[in-house]
Amino acid sequence: MLAVASLIHVVVGVAGGRALDRSPRPSLRGTVALVALSLLADVDVVAFRLGIPYSAPFGHRGATHSIAFAMLAGAAAAALLAREGRWSFSRIALVACLVAISHPLLDAMTDGGLGVALLWPFSNARFFAPWRPIPVAPLGARMLSTRGLHVLWIEAIGSLPLLAWAVWPRARRAIRGSGTTDS
Ligand SMILES: [Zn+2]
Repeated sequence: MLAVASLIHVVVGVAGGRALDRSPRPSLRGTVALVALSLLADVDVVAFRLGIPYSAPFGHRGATHSIAFAMLAGAAAAALLAREGRWSFSRIALVACLVAISHPLLDAMTDGGLGVALLWPFSNARFFAPWRPIPVAPLGARMLSTRGLHVLWIEAIGSLPLLAWAVWPRARRAIRGSGTTDS
């Protein structure tokens, strides 16, 4: 069984939280929601337990890894976060949809398993990106194997620039500029 590059998805969610607003202290609720949204597509791993074949429309990397699902999930997350009254709906919707669509696109860049059903419900064809530099991660407890830790290391190195952008450089600039640019 093959799974996902989960660490990268978490980092994308954190970066989404930073992109949501320029405050020195991004909304914890917004960041947590976007991390959950970034990971949401992998809810389909339950298919393995239900005996649904990997290649089926509702198998792993099937329907929940489609563009349609990402847009729906992004819109739903945006509607929920808009209740905070902290950001414009268009900003939340843009960030949330980008976070959601990043999941299948990143999965398509992994070097194992089946591709992602980007065009579901119109097609169950599985797609891979032409460039696949991300090693696919083992599932569940097998993540603690030598290969799992190797994958985690590669993901950590690859995610570092985005994580740094999300949690440090812009925060410092925002703090220096606070009181003059925040609205
Ligand atoms: Zn996935």
